[in-house]
Amino acid sequence: MTFILGNINDRSVLVLDDFYFDVQTLSNGALSSDPMDALANCDLLHRLSGLLKDATPTGRIAAETIGAAVPRPKNCFAIGLNYKSHAEESKMQLPTNPLVFTKFPSCLVGPHSDIEMRSDGVDYEVELVVVIGVGGKDIEKDNAWNHAAGVTIGQDISDRIVQFAAQPPHFDLGKSFDTFGPIGPFVYSTDHFSDLNDFQLVTEINGETRQNDSTKNLIFDVETLIAYLSQVTTLTPGDIIFTGTPDGVGAATGNFLKDGDVITTTISGLGTMVNHCRRVSDYAKGA
Ligand code: ZN
Repeated sequence: MTFILGNINDRSVLVLDDFYFDVQTLSNGALSSDPMDALANCDLLHRLSGLLKDATPTGRIAAETIGAAVPRPKNCFAIGLNYKSHAEESKMQLPTNPLVFTKFPSCLVGPHSDIEMRSDGVDYEVELVVVIGVGGKDIEKDNAWNHAAGVTIGQDISDRIVQFAAQPPHFDLGKSFDTFGPIGPFVYSTDHFSDLNDFQLVTEINGETRQNDSTKNLIFDVETLIAYLSQVTTLTPGDIIFTGTPDGVGAATGNFLKDGDVITTTISGLGTMVNHCRRVSDYAKGA
């Protein structure tokens, strides 16, 4: 049975249509209210999901109550230059191995959270986000999808000024400002999808389409990324991987995000996130 897992009012929930069901209640306390606990028990989520049609919903979903579907991963990996089109627009060489960096987990926010920008060089990057359900080390590529709990939408928001303030660029810092990791709205278990290698990703800014491509054009596919990362570090339930962005980012044209801009991010089968941009105070010089 497929599941759709979310975080509403900081509690783990399962979703059916417009309604949500509290996981702790539904499981009679077998699972806590912590979404991270739920992600470590995917088998139970699959079973609980089968009960939803006969259960009483906890409530109707209101967008502003949805938090980050994965609020506290142990690790938040991200992959740079993982689409040929984006590597070319960035005037960078195609990677011969995955280019891995981290977004600090503290940057993760919900699918309708505001983006707080502290410079005029902030950019958007739609990405498929993979959520690990079954941890492991040295995971075989052929078995990699079996380690994923599901997938969701992510925006790898980036302050290009900070990113390129050092040489070589330090991706982690410029992409980890508070609020620079909206994800959601929900985690969809992998068994929703007949083809896990063809998700269509779209970013619109104020209704204008800026990015539009499919994960079938990833240079390193999800299976390769899971296998590669797990050779180095033991993957843990709830770890997430931002898998890279296609072309159309603002940096390629100088078209950065401005105060009041609305980022609408859609991935086929995974719904939509809507994030408003707010220009807040500048960071201290030298940051
Ligand atoms: Zn990215």
